[in-house]
Amino acid sequence: MTTLTQEATVVGITVPTGLFIAGQWRDSQGQSRFDVHDPATGAVIAHIADATTHDALDALDAAAAAQNSWGSTSPRTRAEILRMAYDLIISHREDIAAITTAEMGRPLDQSLGEVRYGAEFFRWFAEQTAHLHGNFGSSPNGDFDIITTKVPVGPSLLITPWNFPLAMGTRKIGAALAAGCTTIIKPAAQTPLTMAFLVRLLAEAGVPDGVVNFVPTSSAATQSETLMNDSRLRKVSFTGSTGVGVRLLQQAAPNIMRSSMELGGNGPFVILEDADIDAAVDGAMVAKFRNGGQSCVAANRIIVHRAIAQEFLDKFVQRTKDLHVASGTTPGADIGPLIDQRQRDRVQRLVNDAVQDGATILAGGHPISGNGYFYAPTVVTDVPESSAIATEEIFGPVAVVITADSDDEAIRIANDTPFGLVAFVYATDVTRAFDAAKQIEAGMVGVNRGLVSEPGAPFGGMKASGLGREGGHIGIDEYLETKYIALGRTRP
Ligand code: NAD
Repeated sequence: MTTLTQEATVVGITVPTGLFIAGQWRDSQGQSRFDVHDPATGAVIAHIADATTHDALDALDAAAAAQNSWGSTSPRTRAEILRMAYDLIISHREDIAAITTAEMGRPLDQSLGEVRYGAEFFRWFAEQTAHLHGNFGSSPNGDFDIITTKVPVGPSLLITPWNFPLAMGTRKIGAALAAGCTTIIKPAAQTPLTMAFLVRLLAEAGVPDGVVNFVPTSSAATQSETLMNDSRLRKVSFTGSTGVGVRLLQQAAPNIMRSSMELGGNGPFVILEDADIDAAVDGAMVAKFRNGGQSCVAANRIIVHRAIAQEFLDKFVQRTKDLHVASGTTPGADIGPLIDQRQRDRVQRLVNDAVQDGATILAGGHPISGNGYFYAPTVVTDVPESSAIATEEIFGPVAVVITADSDDEAIRIANDTPFGLVAFVYATDVTRAFDAAKQIEAGMVGVNRGLVSEPGAPFGGMKASGLGREGGHIGIDEYLETKYIALGRTRP
């Protein structure tokens, strides 16, 4: 039985604001809290408990204590809890979407889309639990049997970013719980409320005490270092920037800790000469401006064949100018604010530097004055390939359009980046599109589609974009060890 001691009312909804450790909501040992802001106004909407390293170690104590019993529950027990959690998310979808919009700003309909997408990971992984098969066979010379089985990795630290506060959590939590791992969840400091609400639903769904622990903190680096120094923690799964991913991999090394890394991207959106231009414009609008461009699978560079570049630009720029920028609760809003002032300043610096490098602004190019961190949807062209805006992840509503003279040149530009998360290819000749998709170095390629995310498909990157995959049939393997038993025979 859990007692809720910490709550706030956010947009009329009661949200837990405590830590959740060993099945109890509680305050942090330091009794300290940090503020959560609405990026549309800058106003403080809640104060959430700020976990200390002592709290984090309490969470690890709880996760370690619960590991054996959770790891040995029947697959169907885990499936039913996950399925119940799915149902609870769906029945609370309007509330979750409203909380997400309040703390990260995006339009409500897009938040609702994330809730449905995020919930699907629980349904998907519930369906996986009964299919974790091992193998049985004979050794090649026939003198013993080879048995393989799957066992949970163990207590797992799950660190999530602010840009999809629910789904970046559920695609880790779903896989971890289905595999039989206990968890410590560390949400982004900008958006802890969505996850706090989810954690309460997980408890309601029947997750036993200690299996899900929740430790928001303003001291992410110290917390992860403390936890990862403790050899009881067996896994870290991180979604966020490549720089932090590198640091976590270094911290994972001494204890040889299993690591999954979903990192940054610099997605190319390649439009070949024979593409259906209207379809490419539709796809580019989604790939670039969904979530205000604050997505790891955003189109960072639109690479279009010179022969069709003008027609594409005319249509794309008009559609960009038509986007409605407003707070996420405004009916008809297409784009909300950026997450904070720091991110808005960064986007402006990238645009200014591009102009210095010779780029031309065809739309936007400036912040929107007034409250909140709004930025005008922007299109820039004539961008040198070496400009920071073409080499760094923008994470804002700014489209960079680059022209290429051939398929080969487009593919060369697409691959000219240390990142390899997602790419998009538009062409009417399917063989031509498939050839390009095969040559582009990315973990995911959308062909004639501006959106690839799907719980039933493996999500993840190559090169500096990460290690491992989330979702799909292999997502659960990130939380499983393969164990081999050599079984001797008394007779051949
Ligand atoms: P971030 O790396 O700043 O933070 C991500 C998380 O890590 C947060 O919870 C943060 O508090 C925590 N963190 C920060 N420093 C840490 C440290 N030293 N040790 C441990 N934890 C630390 O990223 P962000 O700004 O929240 O998110 C944007 C980034 O995330 C972008 O680069 C984006 O591409 C990436 N992202 C990737 C995927 C993917 O699936 N590949 C999905 C969403 C976002």
